[in-house]
Amino acid sequence: MTNQDLANLIFPKVSSNILDYEKKYPKRNLKEGEVVTRVAPSPTGYMHLGTLFQALIDYILVKNRGGVFYLRNEDTDTKREVDGAIKLVMDTLEEYNIMPDEYEIDGKTIGSYGPYRQTKRKEIYHAFIKYLIEIGRAYPCFCTKEELDERKKQQEKNKVRTGYYGKYAKCRNLSLEEQAQKIKSGIPYVIRFKSEGDFNKKFIFNDLVKGKLELSENDEDFIIMKSSDKLPTYHFAHLVDDHLMGTTHVIRGEEWLPSVAKHIELFKTFGFKAPKYIHTPLIIKKEGNITRKLSKRKDPEAAMSYYKECGYPTLAIIESLMTIINSNYEEWHTKNPTCTYLDFTYSPKKMSSSGALYDLDKLKNISKNIISKMTKEELMEESFKWASLYSKELKDLIERDKDYYMGILNIEREQKKPRKDIAKYDEIMDNIWYMYDDVYKEHEKTYEWVGITSKEEINLITSTYMDKYFCLKDKESWFNGIKELSESLGYASNMKDYKENKENYKGSVADVSTVLRVALTSKSTTPDLYEIMTLLGKERIEKRYQSLEK
Ligand code: GLU
Repeated sequence: MTNQDLANLIFPKVSSNILDYEKKYPKRNLKEGEVVTRVAPSPTGYMHLGTLFQALIDYILVKNRGGVFYLRNEDTDTKREVDGAIKLVMDTLEEYNIMPDEYEIDGKTIGSYGPYRQTKRKEIYHAFIKYLIEIGRAYPCFCTKEELDERKKQQEKNKVRTGYYGKYAKCRNLSLEEQAQKIKSGIPYVIRFKSEGDFNKKFIFNDLVKGKLELSENDEDFIIMKSSDKLPTYHFAHLVDDHLMGTTHVIRGEEWLPSVAKHIELFKTFGFKAPKYIHTPLIIKKEGNITRKLSKRKDPEAAMSYYKECGYPTLAIIESLMTIINSNYEEWHTKNPTCTYLDFTYSPKKMSSSGALYDLDKLKNISKNIISKMTKEELMEESFKWASLYSKELKDLIERDKDYYMGILNIEREQKKPRKDIAKYDEIMDNIWYMYDDVYKEHEKTYEWVGITSKEEINLITSTYMDKYFCLKDKESWFNGIKELSESLGYASNMKDYKENKENYKGSVADVSTVLRVALTSKSTTPDLYEIMTLLGKERIEKRYQSLEK
């Protein structure tokens, strides 16, 4: 019995070898400095903010240097797979305008290094595993779960490192005959890698974010092929896929850092050049005085769907992620205000190695800025798209009269210092409902009176205004009207004068304006009152004033 016999016994149908696959997937034709990156989600039906964070780095690196960005569907955990999960990732990448160059979706493949879906690559993995068995660097392991649990318990009791290594790697020492005989008698098995590493020996690993790290060599005979479906584990699929697909930079979460020694030993065993690694920090959030990992279970903002539902412009999320991708991004953007994030040169060295703090308040500010710079047409279109999915109420209002809606949006917009009051589209309704009579009528509202609260006085101000001083000719005449109204009722029309001689007046023009504002909208703070009045027009204003409680 030879290694070759064992390999043939385990993989009788595998006829292609590594060289065949290397010929089928030749080295990519890259120009000097070009890179190949990939996003490799598992299809769990949930898209984490971290996936977009990593994909964004993949994308920018390729934009900076040229090359290829591809998507690989890591679906080897068939039990966790959710239908449509990769479509969700692809749709999100498309919405964010960071589409991969190569991918596979709904049976359609773009790119010549596929299949880009791991369950379709089983044959390829088997050829690579077969080779390891042939050279005596992989073996079948028949240990049961109970045996493995028992071994772990003993290791814990004896206070030694847990794991399947050295003298604890029981099946490592079975003879080829014993292995073959067990396989033939139908005992279930996994395939393990046969490590030659020494845990007491160190090697230097250069992570592009974390710098040079001194790590212990791997000595674990870890599983490379599962028993039930004969699919590879992550460690092994990573080796095969990133080798054949020509990945130059692996950008992945730092939870993979403890596995690096395994990966390096695998690459060495095959004589393949390992890719460069960028282990991204965990996305963390602040809660009171503590910072903690953004949790899928506790934090709605961990899911990409959250941002879509709230109606954040996608650029706001990208900009906010850019600030945690590189610490110098904000400074760069302030200095280069007309550039977009795609003009920025990403540097792994300028990435925090200890946690990327994601702050929703900061996102809101970024978003307010972005929305304030949109034209009324852009904001109308974007908010309409959002409303079509999430708010029938807003959608109906927009459809009723798009020009009127844009008129409202345009108040204090398209000017040097635009108003920054909307961070996300789900806040729009709250800012505009009082501009629609029927909604205004139905809306549960509290009149936010400030200063002047007497009903009699309020009615006197509004009725005198409409009778004698109402004017919408232009902003100056409009304001003069309010000043004259103020004077006629014993209020100072000039603030300076009022401050110096308060005792001579009932109040000031500011108090009068507030009454006109609250009586019209029920709110004490709104965008420009002149513009609101202009949009509403005399008749509607009059009706609202008349409908106030007498
Ligand atoms: N499928 C792996 C994950 O979801 C990807 C890790 C990698 O990018 O290599 O964590």
